[in-house]
Amino acid sequence: MGLFGKKRKGYSENRLLGDPLLPIPTHLKDIFYATGNKNCESYVCGKIICSCKCGCFKVRIYAEEVNGSPYIREYKDGYAMVVKASCEGCEKEHLILDISKHGWDGFICREGVTVPDEELSLRSCPKCGCENHSIEICIHSDGKADFIDEIADCSLSDDFDEDDWVDAFGCMGIGLKCLGCGRNYSYLIDYEAS
Ligand SMILES: [Zn+2]
Ligand SMILES: [Zn+2]
Repeated sequence: MGLFGKKRKGYSENRLLGDPLLPIPTHLKDIFYATGNKNCESYVCGKIICSCKCGCFKVRIYAEEVNGSPYIREYKDGYAMVVKASCEGCEKEHLILDISKHGWDGFICREGVTVPDEELSLRSCPKCGCENHSIEICIHSDGKADFIDEIADCSLSDDFDEDDWVDAFGCMGIGLKCLGCGRNYSYLIDYEAS
């Protein structure tokens, strides 16, 4: 009974951490914990937990805010959107999204520009002023086979590896929940990357 229990536990942990069939981008692999039971090759939802096991972050964002919702924002001669999260437990900073690097448009097409760190602004809850947030992420992907077809169609097969499919996702939704008054307020960043 004990041994069976252990085996099952090991299996489910491995599955959460690195199932090759889930579209978890490379840069999030170590801090993304898949949740729920709807995850598959084209969709994954999960939460961000730092390697120190802390799930509480201060979040800095570069985006254009329109009616309380964030959108891609101009920077110099291009467009940008960046989300960075600093762990409250160990102060390590994690890059969550930079549209010049991630998703189909950023990773494959190199669209978007990078913005210097000082352009990002710290997110605080408009209801209670708290700066600590938990982070949930949902990703949509067209899957590995589709990615291999697409890069072949664009004559990019020599430039990318088939395992790169996880970094060429189509959409990323980032949900920030205030840890001060969490039930009352959350902030959603919805990015369509292709
Ligand atoms: Zn940490
Ligand atoms: Zn709040």
